[in-house]
Amino acid sequence: MSALLESYAAGRWFRADDQGAPLLDATTGEEVARISSKGLDLGAMTSYARRVGGPAIRELTFHQRAALLKELGLHLMADKDELYALSYRTGATKRDSFVDIDGGLGTMLSYSSKGRRELPNDTVVLDGGLEQLGRGGTFVGQHVYTSRPGVAVQINAFNFPVWGMLEKLAPAFLAGLPSIVKPASQTAYLTELVVRRIIESGILPEGSLQLLAGSAGTLLDELTVQDSVAFTGSAHTAGMLRTHTNVLHGGVQLGVEADSLNCSILGPDVSTGDPEFDLFVKGVVTEMTVKAGQKCTAIRRVIVPEAIAGDVVEAISARLASTTVGNPADESVRMGALASLEQREEVRKAIQALRSSAEIVYGDPDRVELVDADAERGAFLSPVLLRASRGAVEPHEVEPFGPVSTVLTYDSVEEAVELAARGKGSLVGSVVTHDPDVARSVVLGAAPWHGRILVLDRDDAKESTGHGSPLPVLVHGGPGRAGGGEELGGIRGVLHHMQRTALQGSPDMLTAITGRWTTGSQRRVEDVHPFRKSLAELRVGDTIASAPRTVTLADIEHFAEFTGDTFYAHTDREAAEKNPLFGGIVAHGYLVVSLAAGLFVDPAPGPVLANFGVDSLRFLTPVKADDTISVTLTVKQITPRTNADYGEVRWDAVVTNAEGEVAATYDVLTLVAKTWPQEG
Ligand code: NDP
Repeated sequence: MSALLESYAAGRWFRADDQGAPLLDATTGEEVARISSKGLDLGAMTSYARRVGGPAIRELTFHQRAALLKELGLHLMADKDELYALSYRTGATKRDSFVDIDGGLGTMLSYSSKGRRELPNDTVVLDGGLEQLGRGGTFVGQHVYTSRPGVAVQINAFNFPVWGMLEKLAPAFLAGLPSIVKPASQTAYLTELVVRRIIESGILPEGSLQLLAGSAGTLLDELTVQDSVAFTGSAHTAGMLRTHTNVLHGGVQLGVEADSLNCSILGPDVSTGDPEFDLFVKGVVTEMTVKAGQKCTAIRRVIVPEAIAGDVVEAISARLASTTVGNPADESVRMGALASLEQREEVRKAIQALRSSAEIVYGDPDRVELVDADAERGAFLSPVLLRASRGAVEPHEVEPFGPVSTVLTYDSVEEAVELAARGKGSLVGSVVTHDPDVARSVVLGAAPWHGRILVLDRDDAKESTGHGSPLPVLVHGGPGRAGGGEELGGIRGVLHHMQRTALQGSPDMLTAITGRWTTGSQRRVEDVHPFRKSLAELRVGDTIASAPRTVTLADIEHFAEFTGDTFYAHTDREAAEKNPLFGGIVAHGYLVVSLAAGLFVDPAPGPVLANFGVDSLRFLTPVKADDTISVTLTVKQITPRTNADYGEVRWDAVVTNAEGEVAATYDVLTLVAKTWPQEG
């Protein structure tokens, strides 16, 4: 008998006290492992996550959490071979495993990089700008995101045992939440191996990751108002979770990624000789055969113009005919097995249901030619293409979770959009067209029914990541039948896990709470110029109040000639006087900003290493010849960079004229040495 998988619970590996249920190799039917969660103390797991894991993660800033994700991603990359070897047993080919294993690790590394670039080196995130709530500026509002003191439960489907875990774990960890991962039993041995390697590495703080191998049992009973569940799987299970009392009445947040009848639409502009025709056919075949079609994003509905449907069926069938099926470890094999014999039975049943309104035009659900594999013991299935009659209902209702697609036909773009919408909400749709009008009509009609839409043509095909790939930087999830949830989408995926609060108070209070200087709060002007301070010495609120400078007509003329910017408002008095906004010669905005730099800079070599840009530049009051300007520069935010001996300083810059009117506002971005003079 093979080994019983273990759960990682409350700081130790736990083995159930029964023999567990067997998990079989998808190709050979041999037992890979056994699984059971009998006797596992689920209450102890959730409380350990809240008591030990959560506080340990929240001690760290977003940048520190991101750095750990990177370290972990690189560590696991080194161990990839053993993951690939085990992955074959799930029925996956090497190409399928790449999507799961490298895709998962890549997602984690992408989150690490986003976290360092787009989140502050802090534990609170600001959302949007400051809202002035009182006339005097002493009462302001700011939205902030903070971490919840809860636990993120992640219930995953069988098809992506690695990616499914990591794409949820990475954003939750960044958000400050400990995770309890519950993989689908069928392929849990691969998830268990990854968790083992993560725990052994000691990279993540203890308690930030626990594994529940086996049935979820009463896990949801243990959850409370600060906890969340991210579920991927069938609509049936999602429905049960949705009605759990802790979800209905206990405030537990539930995100769902469920069944999805994704479509790909071929534009009416495309004919058989066009590159888009081939792209469409390739896309459909790829989605039918990668992971043997066991992908939540696979194309189930192939929507094509009636007039060209015969050609499409012929071309897809010809491509499918060259798809070798069999032992996933054999390099010549393009498509491996389904996850289990039970899953194959489910798909056969779905094909049977589809046949009530569609005929099979390629493949036989009961027969397939195999390379180096046994059709009885392994969960193999031929790719099956169906063509539906007009008005068919089943293709919009039944999800065959395998290498199966149905061709549907349309006469007008409106009808194509209507067919897409009959999926009642999908994760992803694609439209293959080279006509911008078709693209716009389809996207505007279909977008409300989709979480993601790929517009594919000859121009983006080479770089396109394809219909079926969820990307860490783009939202994954869809409305309606697809579950209504959202995952990934860059930092959006992190913020989903956090609580947004509208904070009201005085500017000083908001500065103290957020760690970012708030307009209206105290400024500190000292004898030492802030450009002489290292990152360690600078404080939020440190300010330079510059001397005044008069902008002369000669300055404006010189700048115009010197830069070549001789726009009439700076050079032609008569024309400038007719300008309704200026009524005369005005200084270039960039001249004002350049003069401001001359006013605030401290020129000698020092800790300020570089200026790397400005944000939010606005010219508000025109500066006329002989106006006098001055600038106030205040340290707004200090962000040390990890693995560098410098950090970023964001300065609030306000240029005013002699009347106190604001001529320009912007943020100056500089790189400042952590210490000065620098050692070595
Ligand atoms: P399930 O809904 O059966 O299982 C998904 C996950 O939920 C598994 O981890 C499963 O654990 C767990 N689960 C099952 N019952 C409960 C419960 N009562 N409480 C808590 N957790 C529970 O889906 P499958 O993975 O078996 O896939 C079946 C179907 O789901 C597919 O045919 C397909 O239609 C759809 N699917 C959709 C995906 C998507 O991303 N949209 C991805 C994969 C599948 P266990 O395995 O231990 O039962």
